[in-house]
Amino acid sequence: MKLSTKLIHAGVEPDPSTGAIMTPIYQTSTYVQSAPGVHKGYEYARSQNPTRAALEAALAQIENGRHGLCFSSGVAASDAVLRLLVPGDEVIACNDLYGGTYRLFTKIFEKTGIRFHFVNMQEAEAIRPYINAKTRLIWAETPTNPLMNIVDIEALASIAKEKRILLCVDNTFASPYLQNPLDLGADIVLHSATKYLGGHSDVIHGCLVMNDDELREKLYFVQKSCGAVPGPQDCFLVLRGLKTLHVRMDRHCINGEVIAHWLRSHPKVGKVYWCGFQDHPGYAIARKQMRGFGGMMSFTLKDDSLEAAKKVLSSTRLLALAESLGGVESLINHPASMTHASIPREERLKNGLTDSLIRLSIGIEDVDDLKADLSEAIG
Ligand SMILES: *Cc1c(COP(=O)(O)O)cnc(C)c1O
Repeated sequence: MKLSTKLIHAGVEPDPSTGAIMTPIYQTSTYVQSAPGVHKGYEYARSQNPTRAALEAALAQIENGRHGLCFSSGVAASDAVLRLLVPGDEVIACNDLYGGTYRLFTKIFEKTGIRFHFVNMQEAEAIRPYINAKTRLIWAETPTNPLMNIVDIEALASIAKEKRILLCVDNTFASPYLQNPLDLGADIVLHSATKYLGGHSDVIHGCLVMNDDELREKLYFVQKSCGAVPGPQDCFLVLRGLKTLHVRMDRHCINGEVIAHWLRSHPKVGKVYWCGFQDHPGYAIARKQMRGFGGMMSFTLKDDSLEAAKKVLSSTRLLALAESLGGVESLINHPASMTHASIPREERLKNGLTDSLIRLSIGIEDVDDLKADLSEAIG
């Protein structure tokens, strides 16, 4: 089955009690048993819920995996993966990460005795010097947030396999419509479904998809034991969002391309970070592992002052100044003070995330209206 068809049908069966075509929101905490231990596979809703089960099945199929697991947020999904580790274990993570992931690693898990190495992974081989007998996990984001760097998933996966280390890829920016890390050898795919999967800026949700049965059992154990599970209504919203992912992503890609090229030719714009430019250092890899370049991009102004950036950030009318991304509406964001404020300034600057960087999540509005709005704001 092709992805566009899977997005609409995967995981969803007519409801057995009524024939409802859409999986109902099973708003229940528990399930009645006919005798102790005699039930239909549902005991208590932290462990099992039919709305969540439908979404987990759909997510697995869409990422070409065997198992899906849902969490109450993208960060909760990341937290579950890190709980596979024990004190003394080491993680190699890319140096250009979502701020909340960086905070989780350095402020929560470093305290428990897990050690993190943040490495520029644009050359996969660059991770080798950091691998030792304690390395358990490689963590990659691609394209990265917010600098749109590209990491070669296949190359990382081959190192991970050789050294028997787990590879987790945060696929939030690309979405399953543009990139499928499990097909390229990753062990776990993570999504903040809050973004493109939900797609309508109305839900916080996260998920993991994997192939290995044993890994699924370990992560399911964390899911039910730690309890960061999403409610059924949130699962329903993501399940509904999935049905239009392909249509939305096509438009995100078209609008993204137009805006990226337009920004690049604007006399007041400095550097534009977008992985669809042929001279982007990761372009060849992006072409190899992605089916499109999406609607995320960042840019600086020629006047590289914080004041000039702030003026643009507060002057758009259509593009809303807000954290988050991947919704139908376009957003503008200031990573240094918003999404990436939890990364220390020196760390940010080392990786090229300057104070004046502006990030855009290009939505699916008419692109002429977006251009006009940005044009007025940039002046
Ligand atoms: C937003 C985001 C997360 C965290 O997800 P939440 O749903 O906000 O908890 C993780 N990774 C990336 C790339 C993100 O953009």
